[in-house]
Amino acid sequence: MRHIAIVGSGPAGYYTAEAAQKKFGDGVSVDIIDRLPVPFGLIRFGVAPDHQSIKGVARRYEKVALTDNVRFVGNVTVGEDISVAELQAAYDAVVLATGAPNDRKLNIPGAELEGVYGSAEFVGWYNGHPDHADLGPALAGGHVAIIGNGNVALDVARILSKTQDEFVGSDIVARALEWLMAAKTEQVTILGRRGPHQIAMTPKELGELGRLEKAAPYVDLSDLPEEGADALLEPGMRKSVTHLREFAAIPESYRAEKDIRIEFDFFASPKAIEGDGKTERIIVERTELDSELRSVGTGETYSIPAHMVVTCIGYQTPPIEGVPFEHGRGRFANDEGRILPGLYCVGWARRGPTGTIGTNRPDGYGVVDLVAEDLAEDSGKKGREALDDLLAERGVKPVTFADWKKIEEAEAARARDGSPREKFVKIEEMLEIMR
Ligand code: NAP
Repeated sequence: MRHIAIVGSGPAGYYTAEAAQKKFGDGVSVDIIDRLPVPFGLIRFGVAPDHQSIKGVARRYEKVALTDNVRFVGNVTVGEDISVAELQAAYDAVVLATGAPNDRKLNIPGAELEGVYGSAEFVGWYNGHPDHADLGPALAGGHVAIIGNGNVALDVARILSKTQDEFVGSDIVARALEWLMAAKTEQVTILGRRGPHQIAMTPKELGELGRLEKAAPYVDLSDLPEEGADALLEPGMRKSVTHLREFAAIPESYRAEKDIRIEFDFFASPKAIEGDGKTERIIVERTELDSELRSVGTGETYSIPAHMVVTCIGYQTPPIEGVPFEHGRGRFANDEGRILPGLYCVGWARRGPTGTIGTNRPDGYGVVDLVAEDLAEDSGKKGREALDDLLAERGVKPVTFADWKKIEEAEAARARDGSPREKFVKIEEMLEIMR
């Protein structure tokens, strides 16, 4: 029997478990350990609440979770309740699927002002992540600035701009929905330090901004390169840029009918955030591209109102004591997922925060091939038996998948009309339900 511990129950964790089952069949026993009492990581807390079809992939993970040789061990924090070294002693292979839950920091003056949030915090708030559920973001002012030109920036802009009706069918947490509906937002400015041809936004997500009930996007036509240049882009990017061209063609009279203007400000690099104790404005430097398409400041600066700022500039994997880490790239030091024989990483903890949910699948399968190469068939390690002994000694009570199903049922039972669930946002509430 091979014993595998996977740390993290998001997509990368479950694809790895699925791959281990396919590779080793009954000859493997997998424990998926998570610090939260609820599984699925990014699916529950990262994917936008109004993108339920993407969340459907959790059904595939559940199939894996419900098999006899895979176990969910929730509410256990690796690094606190148990160390990686202890896991390595108990299991033949330890796979870190811890994702990248921390915000990359925007290192400019004023970034610490009240009203400036990282996307992990802000997205975690509306998705009911226990770490961020109490955020109560500064939405009373009229202007919001979003920094970054990726899909997370689009998620944040869209969530800020939807009507109550447009949230029907979503699982946005009730408190966040109420807060958003009371907001006074008039303008959302999306700042990109490079140009329309350098965005990291995908067409489907960009297209959604053009179909909102109470908001309309604005792109300055003069920011767009000559139309012929789009032909050189790869097809997905070309579609995205086509959306930007459509936004540039929207008549001002149409925008005037809407409550919220979503303005794309390209070639705009944030230099400082200013305000009296809380953010009021953001100072931006106009940029241009150098021959390698990097943004270079022109020296011209201007100020835009910003009563709230959300930085959507990427995420970081937190290091774990004793595990080699590449600080520059914000991920575990690894070769194709192998940190050292017996210790591996997958997903964002391996590659950094890029790619879609599906990108994690080959990661998991690749790492399981390495596990097969590295390990003897039977090392005599005790796996879950050893983990259970250690946790019992320490008085740590793990949450099982059956416990989670009780939480899930209770969340479905209290959902508002049309919504799949009303999430519990406090760990204590979750534990109370399963008890
Ligand atoms: P991302 O795609 O890496 O985009 C980050 C953006 O931040 C880039 O535009 C980058 O600009 C900008 N940036 C970085 N540092 C900056 C700085 N100091 N000042 C100004 N701008 C800065 O990251 P993300 O949006 O967080 O998304 C993470 C991953 O999740 C991506 O792979 C994304 O596609 C995926 N995702 C997918 C979906 C979906 O499919 N629906 C939804 C959400 C997220 P430069 O290009 O100039 O570096």
